[in-house]
Amino acid sequence: MKRTVLITGGSRGIGRQMALDFGAAGYNVIINYNKSRDAAMEVVNELNAREIACQAIQADVSDSDQVKRMADEVMFGHVDTLINNAGIAHLGLLQTDSEQDFDRVIGVDLKGVWLVTRAFLPDMISNGFGRIINISSFWAERGSSTETAYSAAKAGVNGLTKALSREVGEYVTVNAIIAGLIATEMNDRVPPDALFRIVDNTPVRRIGKPEDISHAALFLADGKSSFINGALLHADGGY
Ligand code: NAP
Repeated sequence: MKRTVLITGGSRGIGRQMALDFGAAGYNVIINYNKSRDAAMEVVNELNAREIACQAIQADVSDSDQVKRMADEVMFGHVDTLINNAGIAHLGLLQTDSEQDFDRVIGVDLKGVWLVTRAFLPDMISNGFGRIINISSFWAERGSSTETAYSAAKAGVNGLTKALSREVGEYVTVNAIIAGLIATEMNDRVPPDALFRIVDNTPVRRIGKPEDISHAALFLADGKSSFINGALLHADGGY
């Protein structure tokens, strides 16, 4: 049976690349987006032009009602592969960040993973097969100064991944990809000297491309990866 992947935050960056690559690998593709409708429709059109089925659904992953609506709107039968990729970054010092800044980052980057997983997990369990892949960050383990909320949210994603992998591993594998610095719009505001320091500390001597994360996700989604569960797979060039 044809596999179906739902990629949250599939309109841009890493999620967009995963949509194209999973489509090319034979999956039906559903992308979720929040604000970037035009970019999401470009992904749909690009896949449709290659005769790959793709649906785009708008929903803010931090809002439980919108996530429920998204689950009602999915086409292609059921989702067997969920990639929790939607995320936002926020730069600021803890001492000057507002409570709203913290809530927004935790809401999208951590609660969003919990809400979307909760919406799609029951079908995976009743169908006896599923793959959940959470996109985490190297800052979860190292901590990024000026990104306390983001680092905490991603550390939470790692914990959620490990815990859920113990709850449902018999049917559904749950893994995370610990992404290093990847060239997307998310890093547009990172100063050049900080980028240089990261490359300098990365043994492969480059920053990552969205394809690097997409490749790791395809590997974890593969039916043959059934003994990989609760893993935090580093795709960070060895940083
Ligand atoms: P990006 O280029 O900024 O794209 C972010 C995506 O998330 C967009 O498609 C955006 O959709 C979506 N999104 C944001 N808020 C959302 C919400 N509330 N509900 C639904 N979708 C939402 O970022 P990226 O670099 O591709 O990042 C993708 C994931 O990788 C994130 O979880 C990020 O934390 C993680 N990551 C990135 C890096 C990096 O260096 N880039 C490193 C480690 C981990 P709209 O534009 O439609 O709102």
